[in-house]
Amino acid sequence: MRRMTQDLGTEQRPLRVGVIGSGPSAFYAADAVFRVGGLHARVDMFDRLPTPFGLVRGGVAPDHQNIKAVVKVYQKVAEQPGYRFFGHVQIGRDLLVTDLEEHYHMLVWAVGCESDQRLGIPGEDLSGVHSATEFVGWYNGHPDFRERSFDLAAATRVAVVGNGNVAMDVARILLKDPEALATTDIADHALTALRASKVREVYLLGRRGPAQAAFSPKEIEEIAELPGVDVVVAPAEAELDPYSAEWLATQKGSAQRNVAFLQERARLGEGGGARKLRCRFLVLPVEVKASDGRVAAVRVQCARLEPDAGGTPRPRPIDRFETLPVELVFEAIGYRGVPVPGMSFDPRKGIIPNADGRVLGEPGGPVRPGHYVVGWAKRGPTGLVGTNSPDSKATVERMVADLQAGKALAPRHDAIEARLRQRGIDFVTWQDWQRLDAHELAEGNARGKVRHKEPSVEALMAAVRRLRPR
Ligand SMILES: Cc1cc2nc3c(=O)[nH]c(=O)nc-3n(C[C@H](O)[C@H](O)[C@H](O)COP(=O)(O)OP(=O)(O)OC[C@H]3O[C@@H](n4cnc5c(N)ncnc54)[C@H](O)[C@@H]3O)c2cc1C
Repeated sequence: MRRMTQDLGTEQRPLRVGVIGSGPSAFYAADAVFRVGGLHARVDMFDRLPTPFGLVRGGVAPDHQNIKAVVKVYQKVAEQPGYRFFGHVQIGRDLLVTDLEEHYHMLVWAVGCESDQRLGIPGEDLSGVHSATEFVGWYNGHPDFRERSFDLAAATRVAVVGNGNVAMDVARILLKDPEALATTDIADHALTALRASKVREVYLLGRRGPAQAAFSPKEIEEIAELPGVDVVVAPAEAELDPYSAEWLATQKGSAQRNVAFLQERARLGEGGGARKLRCRFLVLPVEVKASDGRVAAVRVQCARLEPDAGGTPRPRPIDRFETLPVELVFEAIGYRGVPVPGMSFDPRKGIIPNADGRVLGEPGGPVRPGHYVVGWAKRGPTGLVGTNSPDSKATVERMVADLQAGKALAPRHDAIEARLRQRGIDFVTWQDWQRLDAHELAEGNARGKVRHKEPSVEALMAAVRRLRPR
């Protein structure tokens, strides 16, 4: 890297920024770049999928269309004159990090956390044990998960391990009347399987107590409001030990609202609904048991809470075990990043190592000049869509400071389209996406749905090519 001349970021010499990923953090970063006063910038955004919007399209549940509507904000960003989209381009495969360094002054990594944490317990490899990532991607029509299958027609009881919002999405989709999903943008293959589902009971397994439940009050209340579904809590598990009661008083209102809600459900008992969400607390799965090669039960070890050195309540296993009869297990215990070839990665945290958004060569190592990171790839898989906005702005502030200090890459080329064509990559432009978007909406409309998603990369690309003007 060499010190840049003063005119970088002017009309004559705009700052060229490459953004890798097109989820919320990518669009908030692009927006923040365009809003820097007096800065002339161009933003090229790459995504490995032919479609933009990351987890807003492939993660947020189909019955949460109000959340998915945030893409209108991203559409406005994409209408900025300096913006270009390059879908169907995987960085680390179709273009290398060195290709990007040759073309851009600054690179922003917004690749999210696309893999998942596993429990690492015996029986986890059985075919009826799945990660939430697979299930969520499958019902959302994410092309990576098109071929997955979930034997919902042979299961009446299911365990969902974890009690964060992703676990709640999985539980809700399993318990909800599929006809209430039929008009959303749920994948056709998922709707067919959910219509044949025999699932009646979902055990939600939390490692800690009700005071530490990770779900938000709205998510659990939404399940309790579903017709024919009871949220069931054992009275003994809804009670707080004295230490948790003291700890709860120091927590946000949402934890207190959760506890009040769970204690109320404990008072109401089993209820008369045909389907149950059984919230269990202080249980640690230790083994998935099989019968005739199929999942038959999950064995859990009970726990009690003890404060760690910092006073945070942690589950400590006790000498009591239970066996819960279930035919399917979904693990929803967290996402983690996937390393991009040629890019720094912190294998312990599963993120791109960084200091406040400036990428480091290795965890704890020196800054990697010209590279920045935003969103889940920066801070791990926490926070809602909106959390990514201030987070991306903060990274862009670092970029501006570095630009003012004359620190940017010195790209030799400005012809990324030519390089992609040379490599035979049929990239998707924003205009392509807009035609595909209109097509998906029209196909959905014809089927009485919000949107019909083409199910695979091949089908998406076939539609893109068909819709291009001749
Ligand atoms: C199941 C689930 C449900 C959720 N529900 C809600 C909700 O209801 N409300 C809410 O506010 N938040 C919700 N969230 C959280 C929200 O989705 C995240 O905060 C947000 O999507 C994170 O944004 P991101 O840009 O960091 O990553 P992502 O949205 O994951 O985007 C990453 C993008 O990078 C692309 N990419 C990855 N690797 C490469 C590569 N090598 N080359 C090119 N492109 C690449 C991916 O294709 C993807 O488009 C949910 C999350 C999950 C997992």
